[in-house]
Amino acid sequence: MAARGVGIEDGGVVAAARGRILYAGPAAETPPFEAMRRIDCEGRWITPGLIDCHTHLVYAGNRAREFEQRLNGASYEETARAGGGIISTVKATRAATLQELIEQSRPRRNALIAEGVTTLEIKSGYGLTLEDEIKMLRAAHTLGDKVSVAATFLGAHTCPSEIDKDSYTDRVCDMIAVIEPMADAVDVFCERIAFTPEQTARIFVEAQRHGLKVKLHADQLSNGGGAALAASHGAVSADHLEHTDENGVRAMAGSGTVAVLLPGAFYFLRETKLPPIGLLRKYGVPIAIATDCNPGTSPLTSILLCMNMAATCFRLTVEECLLGVTRNAAAALGRDDVGTLEAGKQCDLAIWDIEEPAELVYRMGFNPLHRRVWRGEDA
Ligand SMILES: [Zn+2]
Repeated sequence: MAARGVGIEDGGVVAAARGRILYAGPAAETPPFEAMRRIDCEGRWITPGLIDCHTHLVYAGNRAREFEQRLNGASYEETARAGGGIISTVKATRAATLQELIEQSRPRRNALIAEGVTTLEIKSGYGLTLEDEIKMLRAAHTLGDKVSVAATFLGAHTCPSEIDKDSYTDRVCDMIAVIEPMADAVDVFCERIAFTPEQTARIFVEAQRHGLKVKLHADQLSNGGGAALAASHGAVSADHLEHTDENGVRAMAGSGTVAVLLPGAFYFLRETKLPPIGLLRKYGVPIAIATDCNPGTSPLTSILLCMNMAATCFRLTVEECLLGVTRNAAAALGRDDVGTLEAGKQCDLAIWDIEEPAELVYRMGFNPLHRRVWRGEDA
């Protein structure tokens, strides 16, 4: 199955009304619109607004000290004993008020917006109680005043120390009924150190009973059959996938599940096991890439640097990187109203000061965004 490529229109026009694209294509074929407002891009490139389809950017505190301790030679166990690790983020997030959580997370959102991001997925998962998970989802929605936010409930991120995993899985299933109106999807961290395939399946069944999409942190540290499990539940995406084998990739191809690759975590953890890029290409599985912005394993708030890392670490092509933060990232969120420049889609644009698309992937730490349009408005 050959993937549809990137279409390039030289001297094209995008026309929009009420936040939706009416026309996108060659200037010569533009229908006769009476435009109320025109933006002359003066020969610049327009891409769809970028999509970061996997982040944990709502959290309190940070883990810079733990990072420093590890550079000074401390082991993971030692930093955990010294109060580090994911539980330290859970503690800080539980202790923060809703307002504090929003204030601390907003600069991270702004950094992504400044690089042309117009749709952003944000996961919960540092609260782990109903009350604190709701607080995180509220913060995520509040951050949706300048970007389209897809909120994902990740109650099954890690098991709180006060309870065993099976009982906590039941609790997550109970939470789903309450958080349902606040979430678009439910995610689970399926891994030897997190939740088993059986526990994951229980949560997925409950999510789908409530009409929510499902996605999975799969096969990051070991091959636990996560990709195939996600595919068997019709998940919109399976994310990480460093240890996924051919059976998992084949299953994803059959179910239309998008592969979300997270080069920031791969880089920060200095991983060496590459995701099965060749197999994903062979079976035509759509590939998305995302920052995985989180305080422990990927403190990355640059979608452009993420594209560079995907090219450098995973050898993705420029076209794959661009599709990974536009059309395929939309598919990873189960969204068909963003991610491409086509009539009927949300008018989300990124206008760039570049000579060719490869510049978006090639540079490190340079932002050539000229202008961002979100829902038809300059923003
Ligand atoms: Zn993640």
